[in-house]
Amino acid sequence: MNIKTAISNAVERLAHEPIGPPRMAAEALMMFVLKCDRAFLFAHSEQQLTAEQQTRFEEAVAQRASGKPLQYITGRQEFWGFEFVVSPAVLIPRPETEHLVSAALEKAAQVNRDDIRIIDVGTGSGCVALALASELPEAQIEAVDISSVALQVARENARRLDLAARVNFYESDLLASARGEYDLIVSNPPYVGRCEADKVQREVREHEPDVAVFGGEQGLDIYRRLIPEAWDKLKPGGWLLMEIGFSIEEPVRELLKHWNGVSSVPDLQGVPRVVCARIPRMHH
Ligand code: GLN
Repeated sequence: MNIKTAISNAVERLAHEPIGPPRMAAEALMMFVLKCDRAFLFAHSEQQLTAEQQTRFEEAVAQRASGKPLQYITGRQEFWGFEFVVSPAVLIPRPETEHLVSAALEKAAQVNRDDIRIIDVGTGSGCVALALASELPEAQIEAVDISSVALQVARENARRLDLAARVNFYESDLLASARGEYDLIVSNPPYVGRCEADKVQREVREHEPDVAVFGGEQGLDIYRRLIPEAWDKLKPGGWLLMEIGFSIEEPVRELLKHWNGVSSVPDLQGVPRVVCARIPRMHH
């Protein structure tokens, strides 16, 4: 069977499943099996697959047809222009989370010192911490997660991106194991409420880690714990930046009522995505 026929068979098969655009998925799976780019697929569409390639492709298509996210099959997701390794132990980085990185870079520039201390809480794949490390060569960056398996993925990403010396990854339940004070605390915490679980895509609910997705009944549990912990661990004038989910801006702002400069950053759809809050100068 040649590349073109294998892809159209896969498109046919995937089109029957409620899992989004079939052609893109079929092509991505073929690129994964052949370790090639999209241009190759078109330039060599008549090329015969080996029996082994054909089997591996069909297995990958079957996994996708059963609802497994593409990124967990290929083990890759792009974020901030870098290729990240992902496994079912970590949340798949979302493009919206790049707003958290941009907001953190903006606040880092305001701190006006190069050797600022930053911690990423619930780092998952490490995407936020590593994006920041790539942009802030002098910053001292730490990244924590409660999941040791997630940390293995994050460390692998650091090595692959040649940033292992730049970010200190360690296990911690939020800021419990963090020492000293920070200029910036950033987090994309789990923020989906159990009460809205049925509104979440089946793929997310069934394949992404619960601990990375759900934040208690209303989605606010982690904010309730992280905000007071961050209050104790920020330098005077330091910033807390958190990604937020749809419809929880008001309750999160309520939790930040003693903070200064509370603002939110909208995503490309105009939905508030990141909340920034500054610790008062004299708080300790
Ligand atoms: N910080 C990681 C990300 O933004 C993981 C977030 C999470 O697991 N909730 O993708």
